[in-house]
Amino acid sequence: MRQPLVMGNWKLNGTKASVEALVKALIEPAAKAEGVEVAVCPPVIFLGLVEKLAEGSRIQYGAQNADVHTSGAFTGENSPVMLKEFGCKYALVGHSERRTLHAETDAVVAAKYEAIQAADLVPVLCIGETLAQFEAGTTNQVVEEQLKAVIDRCGIASFAKAVVAYEPVWAIGTGKTATPEIAQAVHAHIRGYLAGFDADVAAKVQILYGGSVTGASAANLFGQPDIDGGLVGGASLKPDDFAQIIAGAKQ
Ligand code: PEP
Repeated sequence: MRQPLVMGNWKLNGTKASVEALVKALIEPAAKAEGVEVAVCPPVIFLGLVEKLAEGSRIQYGAQNADVHTSGAFTGENSPVMLKEFGCKYALVGHSERRTLHAETDAVVAAKYEAIQAADLVPVLCIGETLAQFEAGTTNQVVEEQLKAVIDRCGIASFAKAVVAYEPVWAIGTGKTATPEIAQAVHAHIRGYLAGFDADVAAKVQILYGGSVTGASAANLFGQPDIDGGLVGGASLKPDDFAQIIAGAKQ
């Protein structure tokens, strides 16, 4: 019922030449992965280039961040409305690197999520626990709090037009992937928590797994009943690996 989605987060990487090579290399794997949605999130400065290169292909794209404002005196920011004009479908919000390095609180994340939806973009709400929280056994509580901040501000119905990405912070960029069993248990908990507000919305929302996904680990992770694809950092910069990850979502 839920379509798998594989999304690459390129973070602060790329040149005009490497972006061109990467998008061109993804056109065929995306075309072959019928039934799988494929998206990339380049640095915002490359969005115009990706817009041109991806035209007519199955590759969709989004931004890694968006400001809460539409326009005004906010030097250095990009508004969701601007991202929409460049053909973005998605915008990540609440990525752990934004939460940690840019001090984005749950309240800021919820406000950005609202602004992203207001511009008719799909927010990809990133949630997940730190290593200390994982070791303390508080993962479920942490993800509930992160979800609750958005539910309180935007309502559960907003999740009908959103994607959730569960990304344990200890697995991001570390080479440590949560086992399919651990990831599935948290995904099931997230879906169950959302179902407590609205069972239909919970059953339909795509919940992606993120955290050192590779071509080798993708199929087992994506084969879990509540894992609807992945948000992929490092491996999304390697065309062969990313193609294997996309193929792993086609079950
Ligand atoms: C990410 O940045 O969202 C991510 C999951 O990174 P990586 O795949 O490199 O762990």
